[in-house]
Amino acid sequence: MTNEDTQEEYNRLKDQLKVWSRQYYNEDNPSVEDSVYDKNYRRLQELEAAHPDWVTNDSPTQNVGGQTLPGFDKVRHNIPMLSLGDVFSEEELHDFIQRLDNNYPQIKEYNCELKIDGLAISLRYENGILVQGSTRGNGSIGEDITNNLKTIESIPQKLTKPINIEVRGECYMPKESFARLNEQREKNGEDVFANPRNAAAGSLRQLDPKVTASRKLSTFMYNVADYDDLETNSQSGLLEELKDLGFTINPTYRVVNNMNDVHDYIQHYTEIRDSLSYGIDGIVIKENNLSLQQEIGTTVKVPKWAIAFKFPPEEVETKLLDIEWTV
Ligand code: NAD
Repeated sequence: MTNEDTQEEYNRLKDQLKVWSRQYYNEDNPSVEDSVYDKNYRRLQELEAAHPDWVTNDSPTQNVGGQTLPGFDKVRHNIPMLSLGDVFSEEELHDFIQRLDNNYPQIKEYNCELKIDGLAISLRYENGILVQGSTRGNGSIGEDITNNLKTIESIPQKLTKPINIEVRGECYMPKESFARLNEQREKNGEDVFANPRNAAAGSLRQLDPKVTASRKLSTFMYNVADYDDLETNSQSGLLEELKDLGFTINPTYRVVNNMNDVHDYIQHYTEIRDSLSYGIDGIVIKENNLSLQQEIGTTVKVPKWAIAFKFPPEEVETKLLDIEWTV
């Protein structure tokens, strides 16, 4: 492969990923499976690693996907809402953890969590009262969807303590709500949603909160924008603190201190994933100590103290590009 060919491939790949991102994030209507997107994204990363001088600010590797839709007020996230780096095999996961352990020998434990297949939301409380809810958007600017989020039962409008806090987590559509919604849409001759994630995203970004309410969404919260107000100094403790404040957290998290335990967690949830009432697309492994998380830091797009292990796709794709280039 000549250098010129490779750069041409790089530019086409970048453009294609942007089109897929627009369909996925803005139109809630993906045209390819996530695994196809992921493979091509990987290829882009490889090309960028080999040719750092090609990387431009508009590359999908430099941006959290998604733009704000017209019709919604915009919310600036003072603390950015990031994505997650991902790995697709236990070997890669092992390498990631090994590298982190080597760089930070003080790391003692990781917190394993399920990767909920929904979309990220942020909830801001003043004196314990919900005052604003927003989408992740491009990570820096999201959409104000406060009235829609107020229709979701699992989101407390008043916390158990009168504190100021910004909490982040995942909004998802339970499998049952998804099946019912698509059944109804089919009956009405409407397009069905490709998956619960896109259905949840479409349902949250409705101009009429009654429509959102009818979609029966739910949430699991797992993070706060600013740790200063917390009593705990661990990710697992943070989850319990969020529960005490009135949030719904996913109770399946597990604190581990070796790769065997991570492996067991992955095995277990791979086996029982279909029996869960909500979709998961992987596992998230996070450094458990919050001060260390801050010390380890982030890139422009992802935290360096966490990684998502993605489940293999249901139908394995073998082609790198699932598209036909017209050159
Ligand atoms: P991501 O979904 O892979 O991972 C980051 C997100 O995981 C976070 O923002 C958060 O919302 C979520 N999450 C769920 N559970 C979590 C937990 N316990 N802790 C922390 N975060 C948790 O990244 P992304 O940037 O939202 O999306 C990229 C992915 O979207 C791609 O890997 C691809 O699979 C998919 N995608 C698909 C298409 C397509 O055309 N099919 C297009 C664009 C993106």
